[in-house]
Parts: sequence; structure tokens; C-alpha cells
Amino acid sequence: MKRIAVVDNEKLKDKQKKLHIQSLCPVNRGGVECIKIEKDGLLMIDENTCIGCGICVRAARDAIKIVNLPEVLDKKPIHRYGENKFALYNLPMPLSGKVVGILGVNGIGKSSAVSILGGLLKPNFGDFGKKADFKEIINFFKGTETQLFFEKVEKGEIKVSYKPQHVDLIPKAKKGKVKDLLKKIDEKGKLEEVAKELEIEDILDNDISKISGGELQRAAIAAAVLKKANLYIFDEPSSYLDIKQRINVSKFIRSLLDKDAAVMVVEHDLIIFDYMSDLAHIMYGSEDAYGSVSGLKPVKNAINIYLGGYLKEENIRFRGKKIKFEARKPFFKKQKEELVSWSGVGKKLGKFSLSAEDGKINKGEVIGVLGENGIGKTTFVRILAGEIKKDAGAISGANSAGKGNLNENVKVSYKPQYLESNDELVMVVLKDAVKKYTNQIINPLNIKPLFEKKLNELSGGELQKAAIAYCLGRDAELYLLDEPSAYLDVEQRLIVSRVIRDFVELENKSALIVDHDILFLDYLSDKLMVFDGVPAKEGIVKGPFSMEDGMNMFLKKLNITLRRDKESLMPRVNKLDSRLDREQKEKGKFYYA
Ligand code: SF4
Repeated sequence: MKRIAVVDNEKLKDKQKKLHIQSLCPVNRGGVECIKIEKDGLLMIDENTCIGCGICVRAARDAIKIVNLPEVLDKKPIHRYGENKFALYNLPMPLSGKVVGILGVNGIGKSSAVSILGGLLKPNFGDFGKKADFKEIINFFKGTETQLFFEKVEKGEIKVSYKPQHVDLIPKAKKGKVKDLLKKIDEKGKLEEVAKELEIEDILDNDISKISGGELQRAAIAAAVLKKANLYIFDEPSSYLDIKQRINVSKFIRSLLDKDAAVMVVEHDLIIFDYMSDLAHIMYGSEDAYGSVSGLKPVKNAINIYLGGYLKEENIRFRGKKIKFEARKPFFKKQKEELVSWSGVGKKLGKFSLSAEDGKINKGEVIGVLGENGIGKTTFVRILAGEIKKDAGAISGANSAGKGNLNENVKVSYKPQYLESNDELVMVVLKDAVKKYTNQIINPLNIKPLFEKKLNELSGGELQKAAIAYCLGRDAELYLLDEPSAYLDVEQRLIVSRVIRDFVELENKSALIVDHDILFLDYLSDKLMVFDGVPAKEGIVKGPFSMEDGMNMFLKKLNITLRRDKESLMPRVNKLDSRLDREQKEKGKFYYA
């Protein structure tokens, strides 16, 4: 059986530890040098002689991975980042006139794959340090659609435009006004039109370093679209956007298609992925070790296969358990003891004013919060968390000065939207969560491999998981989590939603979850709050309502209807003006309940 070994030498600095690991290897003990310590001190593993016993993996904690490859991958990789480093097998295939989505967990090479298609990364076919020329690439893919694609790339017939994943890095590389930056790359002369479609006209005169995450995302999409290309690649286009913007961007991206243009999308919001894509590849593999790509499938099939965790044609089980959705039962809880209530709450922040209709949160409830960006969701949560003072109204549990701080009567734990990091170790920060909730929180979120890392060494997704664990690990009655799905992949989002749900139920706590991923909120919420109004001017807090009433109110404003997929029971957006869309709208049932 072919296997690959991945070694993170950054985590193996101690020479004695390396020698100890080497001394444990049964192949080395038998006289064959399987684990080597190179002259430069790096620990290396010979994949051909390794027998996959796993002894070094246990001894090195998470610094070594030994992974058995499925039979179909007994071949050269498309690209390997170096000896004992990540390997990518196969590539996704763009198709003219179609949006092709790529579905998969973080760390299995989605961005590497699109970078190769986009010409940003030249594959080396496992020959480290070497960059293949087009002849070699074409030869490698002989007899496949990919061969035709790279032949066109070689002839200069394919021009690729790429929207990168980490839009937050753009202000570090580019300086100046948004308008000036976009003008420089506007090969189509359509800056005004595109800015209008993406609703970024008002920020064109702003400096790129001064705009919000959602604005930066739409400016990056505009930059990709303004280039003349016939393959557009969008890596996570929904990050930082609210649902209205996600739907708008999806429609806009689809409008790029014509018979000569192809679009590829990597996306973790499953409802948006489904809405945007015609066909999809599933990427599977082992995080940070290897990744491969399934054949192309209609998007509905691809999602159902992904949820099922088994690729029949390739005979590969990439997840032990199926992800299941349940038809929602009417919300009913025997105990409805009130925890917090508010009445007449108001707050003014510059030109923005927030007012809340009367509402309450009961013990043992998860309340989802939906609303556009800039409509006061974070402000309201911060009032509940006692981080800012309200101007008017009352909150039960508030102190006698009416400062809106619940902390004196109701203990609150708050995870903010924007996460800060420092050089503290994860295991130190999470000591309370580890002590009390190892099985409930730490294990399902797979945080143990992060214990010895500092907070500022974590990726966005890792930091998010640590922040969620920290928030839930604190002793409180009300847990406020602002955008917990950000930076997480589809699978991590579903795990996080289950962890929060189970935690609230088992501990009889309450939680308020602000998020833009409808599937995530649908999966975990008992009730829904909806923020209405006009972004940056006025926010009106409504609810909590039943899921059906809240979703109906919210979806009606977006003019979209949801149905449940018959096979997976996953919510899906109906195509605008389809039979189901019209029928549901006539009945006033925008939500499928
Ligand atoms: Fe040696 Fe391979 Fe076993 Fe590690 S997994 S100890 S390298 S045989």
C-alpha cells in the first residue's frame, strides 16, 4: 500500500526528541534507515520503507502524519510541496458556460488546485524544486478534458482571473483609493456598472485600508470581474458578506457565464454553494497531508454524496459518519423559565440608531440572529454583553443604574466577531474548557492538536474554534457568539452547531448566535431574531420568533424561498420564478416548515 509521510519540522525543534523518535522506529531498529536526521537537523521519513506502524506519529504528537493512500491514488501527485510535505492528486475541471463548485474541508488543497489552474502555481509532479513546462503538463493529462484545457492555456487561449481567498491581505499589498486600484485593472471599461451591481459605489473614494471586510470582499470580486478572462475563479466569495449580499454576489457571478467563459467557485456556505453552482467536484483527503478531486457531478448529487461521506465510483469513504438533517419538529420545551428580557431598548451611534421591540430569551434556548451587515446586530449583542451602554429602555438583569450590563445578575460570556490573538498557548487559554468540557467541546472541535500552539500561530479557522471553546468554557448563563461560522469549512460549521446545541441542552444554558449562514442557523436555532431597517442608518430588533415566522419574515425581504431536499433534507434555495418558488410565495411560505 502506498503511503505518504508529512513531517512538520517547525514543531520538532528539540534534537533529543528527534533522536528519540528515530530510535523508536521498528524499521530503523531492524537496520534500515527509515527515519533520518539530515545534516541540517531536519527529521525525514522514507515513505518507501515505512510500514505505517504509527509509533512515530504518537511520539511526535501532531508533528508527524503517516497516511495510507487509497488505491486510486497509487500514482504520481500533480504537485508536492517538498519531501514529507503536502501532496495534491488530480485537478478540478472548468467547463465553459457552467459554474463548477469545489466542495471539501479546509487543508486538503482546494486553493492549491485552483492556483494551478489559475497559473499561479506551476505543478512539479512530485519532482521537488522543478517547475513543469506545458508539454509535461499536457502529457500528464493525456486523453482527458484537462489536457484540452492546458493545451488552450499553452496557446494563450485561456486567460484566468482569480479572486483570492484571503481578501484581508489585500490592503497589505495594495495602497490607495479603491477606485484608482480598480481603474488600473479595468480591462472591460465597466467599472461603474460592476460597482453598481456589487453595491460598492459609495466606497470607491475610500482608501483600501479603511473599508470593512464585506466591502473588501466585493471590491476583490469587482477586481476579478473587470479583467478580460474566460476562466474566473472565486475562492470563498461569501466570507464577510451578509445573506442579501451573498445572494446578490451569487447572481452576479452566474451572470458572467457565456459560451466562452467558465467559472469555478470554492465556497463553504452550502446553501450559497448549491445556489451558485451547476456542477461540483468533491475534494477529499487528509488535512495537511494530501488532497484529491472526485469526478464532476451535478451539484445536487455532489452535495448529497458529500453529506453521505462516500464516493461510490472511487470506492472512497472520506468520512465515518453521514451528515443528516432533520425535518424540524415544532419547537416545544416544557421549561420556559425566562432568563433575560428587554423593553424599549435604544442606542444612538453617530448617524446610526438602534431600537429593539420588546423581547426575551428563555433558559435552554438557542436564538439565531439574522440581518444585513451594518444593521446593529453586533451593537445589540455588545449591549447585552455589557460592553457598551444603551441610551434607553430596560433589560432584566441590568444593574440598578440601568447600564444594560447583565453581568451583575445574569452571567454573560461573549465571543466577538473579530478575534484578537496574542502569544499565549492554546492550552493555557482553554484550561477551564479542558477541565470541564473535554468530551463536550474540546474533542468534537478537535482542539487537542492545537494545544501547544500560540494563539497568534493559528489559522483563521483554528482561532475561531479556540474562541468558541473559550466562550463556551466560561461559567455563564447566556452565551453570545458573533459570527462563529466565519473561517470554518462546511464540516466544521456542522460540528460547531451540534456542539453549541448539545451544550445548551445539557447544561440548560441559553445562547444567542449571530451568523450569515442560513444552514448553520437553521441547524442549531430554536427561535430566530430578525434585524430590520436600513444599514448604517436605522436598525430595528425584532423577535425572538418561531423559526417559521422569523425565517418567513427574513426570506420574504430577500424574495427567496427555501425547500427541503427530499433525499438529504437539506434546505435548498428555489430558483427564482420556478414552480415551487411561485407556489410557496403564493402561500406566504418562504420557509419550508
Ligand atoms: Fe517508522 Fe513508519 Fe512506523 Fe513511523 S510509521 S515509526 S516511520 S515505520
